[in-house]
Amino acid sequence: MTVTPRPTTRFAPSPNGPLHLGHAFAAIVAHDLARSRGGRFVLRIEDIDAGRSRAELVPEILADLAWLGLAWDGPVVFQSRRLASYAVAAERLKAMGLIYPCRCTRAEVLAAATATGPDGPLYPGTCRGRDVDPRGAAWRLDMTRAAALVGPLIWTDERAGEQPAQPELFGDIVLLRKEAPASYHLAATLDDAADGVTLVTRGRDLFEATHVHRLLQALLDLPVPTWHHHDLLLEADGRKLAKRRGSPSLADRRRHAEDGKALAVALREGRFPAGIWLGAGLRESA
Ligand code: GLU
Repeated sequence: MTVTPRPTTRFAPSPNGPLHLGHAFAAIVAHDLARSRGGRFVLRIEDIDAGRSRAELVPEILADLAWLGLAWDGPVVFQSRRLASYAVAAERLKAMGLIYPCRCTRAEVLAAATATGPDGPLYPGTCRGRDVDPRGAAWRLDMTRAAALVGPLIWTDERAGEQPAQPELFGDIVLLRKEAPASYHLAATLDDAADGVTLVTRGRDLFEATHVHRLLQALLDLPVPTWHHHDLLLEADGRKLAKRRGSPSLADRRRHAEDGKALAVALREGRFPAGIWLGAGLRESA
């Protein structure tokens, strides 16, 4: 196993819903990897999805982490304050001729797709090379051109070892969304560089996303971190814990005066509530 010395790690929740046990586990892994190796732990709020992001959840998230006994280093980072940096990167990709506007609806993509990628139906490239009005359009990466430009890439996961990057699995992914200033892939990759993150810690469900992030790093001359994809807390049926399936939120537990530090110790020691287990998880397409 690779060990990144004195890493800067991060916990990067999207305030789309209350945090639950799975988030607590992810935050503890990121926090403990930094603390145990004399590194830094950054908290980043991924709040650029205007339709889903709820500002009132941010103080709850901070209170949840404090309740678990987790302290972060430096100021809390908000993606919503970084929109200009996403726009600069987007202009650069446009100037390189690597992204193109697309006005296809989800339903159209679904109807036209003949294959499935890690994020769901693969976009068949309908708008590539077409004269599409860019106003209010999404922008997609021309994956074949982008991958050819940078050549073969590898990335390293501390647990899984060296991985050949396979961003082609995703096809022409959306990098600038109609309804949000940047996609998760673009914003998270730029921010990990901006925050000096040297060890990207996150759940196993985002393992494949790293293929795309590695490609974006190569295209945008960003530093290349190491990754640590941890297992996920799962429900009995192997699906990721989710609030909608009834797991109590951390805020609920906090309000019921549960001991957050004791919960953190239990999660560290692998003592999970009945019916919950740690595993790689089943793929659930977006
Ligand atoms: N914001 C993402 C989430 O809440 C995490 C992304 C990441 O860790 O790269 O699922």
